[in-house]
Amino acid sequence: MTFSVKKVRQNFPVLTQQINGHPLVYLDSAASAQKPVQVIERESEFCLHQYAAVHRGIHTLSSVATRMVENVRHQIAQFIHAQSDEEIVFVKGTTEGINLVANSYGRKFINNGDNIVITEMEHHANIVPWYMLAEHIGCEIRIWPLDENGELDQSVLSSLIDSRTKLLSFTHLSNVLGTVNPVREIIKQARKLADEQGAQLHILVDGAQAIMHKKVDVQKLGCDFYVFSGHKLYGPTGIGVLYGRKSLLDAMPPWEGGGAMIKHVSLQTGITYAESPWRFEAGTPNTAGIIGLGAAVDYVSSIGLDEIKQYEQELMDYAITGLKEINSLKLYGPEQRQGVIAFNLGRHHAYDVGSFLDQYGIAIRTGHHCALPLMEHYQVPSMCRASLAIYTTKEDIDVLVAALQRIEKLLG
Ligand SMILES: *Cc1c(COP(=O)(O)O)cnc(C)c1O
Repeated sequence: MTFSVKKVRQNFPVLTQQINGHPLVYLDSAASAQKPVQVIERESEFCLHQYAAVHRGIHTLSSVATRMVENVRHQIAQFIHAQSDEEIVFVKGTTEGINLVANSYGRKFINNGDNIVITEMEHHANIVPWYMLAEHIGCEIRIWPLDENGELDQSVLSSLIDSRTKLLSFTHLSNVLGTVNPVREIIKQARKLADEQGAQLHILVDGAQAIMHKKVDVQKLGCDFYVFSGHKLYGPTGIGVLYGRKSLLDAMPPWEGGGAMIKHVSLQTGITYAESPWRFEAGTPNTAGIIGLGAAVDYVSSIGLDEIKQYEQELMDYAITGLKEINSLKLYGPEQRQGVIAFNLGRHHAYDVGSFLDQYGIAIRTGHHCALPLMEHYQVPSMCRASLAIYTTKEDIDVLVAALQRIEKLLG
């Protein structure tokens, strides 16, 4: 099937509106992607006709809803090629997934004097939980710096991993620079170094950005944990996935206590916990969100991740060519990017550029992009970021480039 952006856009009625008297040009999908009618309708169908509490009732609706939720677990396992459905934990999003690992895996397996390696290009969600953990247990956080191209130099890894390294946590795709990290190669090398050093190393990959742009195969990548959010995959907010290797999840204690995560609770004999992954899903889950996430996975699968990648790559090349024609525009990041483009226009603050663009109906992201260490690296307070998605068109890019040229002329 050939990819047709025109057809795709018919599924996103939100894109047909006018903003400030101009047709909306939505270039902020890396912050949150728009949702196709297929997702919205499946979620509302569920709420209208099948809704009930899951994992509890014996009544018909409850078992229907439970089966639907567990079907989505199966669907996600297949989508990222996990070995079993039980490696899929439903969480609120990437942020909660990483906090789960920090509080469960971290508190059990990481000790005073151990270290955690993260990179300079991480989102705050993959920085702050580790610092909070470090404060609690007294472990060290080591930073893998960026090279001059905005990439990770793999030769640096040997100076970071030693016998006390318990975790390497890094992003699949930078939400600011669009850098695609060679996850498989990095993991291979990290494991080799860990073996040589005798380290009990585990690896977490932040897939929040990558999941919407490329096919993910957790077994091929070789990671122990992989996390992503539904809302960046054209799905609902408030739902996400933590993939964890089954043997590891089984060895990890629960982090939130409550209903649905226990096997037995006795005030006399104590508490026993449910098996993983349910042990990590305390309380009533975001059932409608899970159903919507299943619809989002169906949606992108029906288009095809390879087709999406190819279309977005063409768009990216087109956008970079256009943006390079603007004299005072500075691009950040490597030549090879996926999904996002970071830039600044002359000396203008990103907020000023973003407000101007908004007047023309163009939505981009401005600010520090939850990646302040990256702003420090480039010694700028903020950046503009345009991001691409399956519904982005060349016309969107033309409008952006023309508007930036107008701003350059106006502001100098
Ligand atoms: C958006 C994002 C996060 C955080 O995702 P939430 O949905 O806000 O939990 C983490 N990492 C990266 C790379 C992101 O782009």
